[in-house]
Amino acid sequence: MKIEQHGKSSASLVMQKKSFFIENDKHVKKQRKIADTYAKQPRRINCKNCNGLLSQDYDFIKDMIEYKICNNCSHLNGANEDTNEFCEAIYTKDSGESYAESYEEESIEDYNRRVSSIYIPKADFLVTALINNGEHPDKLKYLDFGAGSGYFTAALKKIGLTNVFGSEVSKCQVEFGNRMNNSNTLSVHEISNTNKVLQNTDANVVSMIGVLEHLQNPREVMNYIKSNPNVSYLYISVPLFSLSVYLEMSFPNVFHRQLHGGHTHLYTENSLNYMCDEFGFDIIAQWWFGTDIVDLYRDISIIVEKNHASNKLINTFKEMIIPVIDSMQFELDKKHLSSEVHLLLKKK
Ligand SMILES: [Zn+2]
Repeated sequence: MKIEQHGKSSASLVMQKKSFFIENDKHVKKQRKIADTYAKQPRRINCKNCNGLLSQDYDFIKDMIEYKICNNCSHLNGANEDTNEFCEAIYTKDSGESYAESYEEESIEDYNRRVSSIYIPKADFLVTALINNGEHPDKLKYLDFGAGSGYFTAALKKIGLTNVFGSEVSKCQVEFGNRMNNSNTLSVHEISNTNKVLQNTDANVVSMIGVLEHLQNPREVMNYIKSNPNVSYLYISVPLFSLSVYLEMSFPNVFHRQLHGGHTHLYTENSLNYMCDEFGFDIIAQWWFGTDIVDLYRDISIIVEKNHASNKLINTFKEMIIPVIDSMQFELDKKHLSSEVHLLLKKK
């Protein structure tokens, strides 16, 4: 039986992403600076997902960047390449300090809260799906690729798994994550060694939580995973071309979380199916949930506030929307229209 799950409470998200509400203009400024760099890169000729030729015409422009929907697999592509120069500028400059800034939490309490509220549900979902597929999760070896500060590896260990490792390009995040967990679970790999890590791993389960979309060659990476006989499962979470993107087009002065920075392309249900077919994977579990309605709430709140509305008006809006965010989002999630999906893929 295949597992399908929808929805997730937004409470922790609204709480933990406060900075997006109160420091909007700072985030927008940074977003536009990255967009400027991206728009200066050479044109992207082929779809990031299926490698098909992208059309000459664009479907929309946002932050001066053209975007195109692939005619072959429906993947959404930015019209420029994420070159070495672009990736280094956003991920590894100052050993990744600037990129890590948005991830690194200050205290051990904050770190653990993030692990519990955001990452343990992801780990639980994986383990439940593996058991459902007849596996003994404690007998498998796990590699979290693009492990960041180790939130997901920490969650896997917290729910009782021991054979867990993480690999990450940012030295700064690896040091921080190992310090927070008092362990050596995480290690650093060079961007240029991405393929070797996946070619040589003896892990049975590779996870890439919010990673595939950031890779320069996702197709190459999928090929290495496909060819590595040790790997049986791939657990991914990717951002999707969803309502949030339309909100971003409609609210240019509110920080964009979905299609900006390292997200130069977005998946669709079709483009994911295309990828799974091409690289020989079955989707055995899927969890659809998104932040589209939180984005809508944030968009309206920030614009209303910018229009010098009274606190009374702002609070009335809050009271109106917050109690229905989850149920509104749930309707999108059920129809696979959310801004994110977690998939457990099994090699055919
Ligand atoms: Zn395509």
